[in-house]
Amino acid sequence: MFPILRLKTGKERATNNRHPWIFSGAVGYVHEDAKNGDIVRVERADKTMVGFGFYNPTAMIQCRVFEFTEAGLDSEVNEAYWRNKIERAWEIRKQYVLEASEGSTTACRIIHAEGDLFPGIIADLYHNVLVIDVLIEGTKRLIPTLEKLFMEVLPIERVVSRVKEKKPKQQTTTSEENETGTSDLVQFEEHDLMYEADISGGQKTGFFLDQRDSRLLIRNYAANKKVLNTFSYSGGFSLNALVAGAISVDSVDLSVKALAEAERNLALNNEALAEVSDRHRIIKADCFKFLAEMEQDAYDLIVLDPPAFTKHKKTVPQASRGYKELNLKAIKKIAPGGILFTYSCSQHVDRDLFRKIVFSAAADAGRSARIVHQIGHAIDHPINIYHPENEYLKGLVLMID
Ligand code: SAH
Repeated sequence: MFPILRLKTGKERATNNRHPWIFSGAVGYVHEDAKNGDIVRVERADKTMVGFGFYNPTAMIQCRVFEFTEAGLDSEVNEAYWRNKIERAWEIRKQYVLEASEGSTTACRIIHAEGDLFPGIIADLYHNVLVIDVLIEGTKRLIPTLEKLFMEVLPIERVVSRVKEKKPKQQTTTSEENETGTSDLVQFEEHDLMYEADISGGQKTGFFLDQRDSRLLIRNYAANKKVLNTFSYSGGFSLNALVAGAISVDSVDLSVKALAEAERNLALNNEALAEVSDRHRIIKADCFKFLAEMEQDAYDLIVLDPPAFTKHKKTVPQASRGYKELNLKAIKKIAPGGILFTYSCSQHVDRDLFRKIVFSAAADAGRSARIVHQIGHAIDHPINIYHPENEYLKGLVLMID
């Protein structure tokens, strides 16, 4: 039997709305034997059933519900249950990402945590390797079962599980993280371009799969343009701009390792990107400084895809100032008729706020700006409508005159 976690009277609204997080303040009773990582049976104050969740007494989010059910039996949360979750998630990706790409894409996210009603886990596929990021004790305990099930359900050769340890301090930029350490390189394709992800030392699980749609979109705009790709990481936007016929592309990042990865990815596509060395420059610089110092009208397409500037609600004002400064610098200097691809991946900066920030940057720059696309995660990063917190990536594409 799973231990019982019961909600406080009057603290049931979020859960009744299928929000998967139960904060400590909403918990009325927990069985004394319940330990971090246990699966608990969640009940309302009147003892009617809510569902099952992963328990963590030390976190603000004391329980993450992975199944809403009014009449579930504990015995039903078994291997077949997890297999079914994996199969459902896989089917969506197989059909709408991999098969829909007709073989031009071999990497995508398979499990997007709460977006797949599977809190505490992210699983990304790179060709025939699956990388699992485990974020909580509840899913950590499941690793052996999940590894076995993934091997059975997915057409893969190996699974690499990584347990995320909580960082002691808030970090707003990831500039020179992971500059040393081991690498484990895996090759894959996205929209007919080859990439290599460093699945042990890279950022995220090795690649920013969430930006797949935007990387394709830039191809519509990059032909005959002078492109600046800031926060370029392993060069995804740069490669797509080059393949679309950009005159030149400058990739700017602070991380030597990221820039080396971009070079490697370019080399992998030598054929598709004919004479690329003439058209591409790698620049190690701080993007804020680079944008401040670059010449007016030097670029007619600029990508701003920085790391999250805040991970907390209380630092949203500082983060907003950061986004404003970045966008202002770019909008001021972009050539007339220029195209700006601008993003925020801060969970706490919502779509409305981000749009207002870009509005005020355009206004301060004294330029006319028109939104031509509002974009976000690719479809393998679905957002559970009851859990808007997971909509972290917001993008705007603007024409600047
Ligand atoms: N656009 C990329 C993902 C960007 S990730 C893609 O599509 O794959 C953020 C990148 O910003 C990281 O590579 C990090 O090294 C870099 N970075 C962080 N702060 C920076 C700064 N101040 N100046 C330049 N690069 C920075």
